[in-house]
Amino acid sequence: MSNSPNQPILLTSSLHVDDARKAITQLVNDLLAEATALNDSSDTETVALDQAINRILAVDLLSPIDVPAADNSAMDGFAFNGQCLNTKDATIELRVVGTVLAGKPYEGSISAGECLRIMTGAVMPAGCDTVIPQELTTTKDELTIAFKQDQLKPGENRRLRGEDLQKGKPSIVAGRLLRPSDLGLAASLGIASLPVKRKLKVAILSSGDELRALGQALDAGSIYDSNRYSLTGLLNRLNLDIIDCGIVRDDPASLKQAFIEAASKADVLISSGGVSVGEADFTKQIMQELGDVGFWKIAMRPGRPMAFGVLKPVAGKSSPRKTLFFGLPGNPVAVMVTFYQFVRAALLQLNGANQTEPPLTQAITEAPIRKKPGRTEFQRAILGRSSDGKPTVRLTGSQGAGILRSMSEANCFVILGHEQGSVAAGDWVDIALFDGLL
Ligand code: AMP
Ligand code: MG
Repeated sequence: MSNSPNQPILLTSSLHVDDARKAITQLVNDLLAEATALNDSSDTETVALDQAINRILAVDLLSPIDVPAADNSAMDGFAFNGQCLNTKDATIELRVVGTVLAGKPYEGSISAGECLRIMTGAVMPAGCDTVIPQELTTTKDELTIAFKQDQLKPGENRRLRGEDLQKGKPSIVAGRLLRPSDLGLAASLGIASLPVKRKLKVAILSSGDELRALGQALDAGSIYDSNRYSLTGLLNRLNLDIIDCGIVRDDPASLKQAFIEAASKADVLISSGGVSVGEADFTKQIMQELGDVGFWKIAMRPGRPMAFGVLKPVAGKSSPRKTLFFGLPGNPVAVMVTFYQFVRAALLQLNGANQTEPPLTQAITEAPIRKKPGRTEFQRAILGRSSDGKPTVRLTGSQGAGILRSMSEANCFVILGHEQGSVAAGDWVDIALFDGLL
């Protein structure tokens, strides 16, 4: 693996989040190159349109038809031949000789001085290329309309055939993470199913002697395992297959067994807990046997310790591919932040998505925020609006890495960059919205 996370320097120094991201992207690129070399054709499948949300389109979707299929009216109004607009008359008068409705093309044709009442979306009748919107006209008598010539030019208010999509051209390109609008677009082309990348199989596990499964009693010092549920929610937003490997005790044999099980079934393993200083030692040892994994101190808050790398394919695995491994920190907020910052993009990239970074925007912070330069911080916050309509943001209480409530109440992260120091009330800050992403 080039850029190996095992390089000793990474074990001792803090790594900039951008460099961590670059190393992860490089690692996923290597995995993709290996998969191509393996010539594994089990990569794509065809699914019905109503199952395709949040899947990744495998090939360019070529339009089998022109959309719209014919020139049609963009307005409710009157269709006519725009040549009459080139005369000197300030006012045009036209005789209404019929009506054209959407879905009912007009069979006849019209002559100079005539027009047809037309509805939005109705096919432009033969001989007509221009529509005057109804509200710009006056009615002279039952059968005649009039309008000022300078209100429009020939060809206006007409949608052209193929204006939206042209037959044979890509309407959605390969790698698109399919959104509701894409499903609508495919349907508008008459396409009932789509070739998509197969679902990634993602194994999750929680490690820690103190963790109890839901339904178990909490004895002294134990806590409920919440991370598997946050992770399941995060992964379900990406329409993946989740393999739940449960809670694993802090002993080398159980951990090794769990890693082997995940490596035998999954494309990706995401664990939480057990990577912080003092705990990571035996995890490191197991990883040296099972794969190539680096243990990192990342210059971020929350989410400082993190492991990532690959697990070698295990004997009996149906696919010869390596398993991408993320060892996230145990703190519940840190799990969500590191998922947002590193894992989500890696999963999308591994599955062929052409856009992996969530969008950022900005808002004005209502209160000062203390921050030391030299690490990237992700504070949980609520995006709102000031009385004069500007976007504002307010932190959701205590920002400790274990305080999940700060995350639950928030609708966005305030992201304070590596070099950034404290910010004053009224300063603009970067924000990333949760909805649809987390
Ligand atoms: P660790 O990274 O294992 O040192 O864990 C850091 C903190 O996160 C400790 O307080 C753990 O108890 C807590 N933690 C670890 N795993 C989980 C989990 N699955 N659910 C809730 N809290 C956890
Ligand atoms: Mg632990």
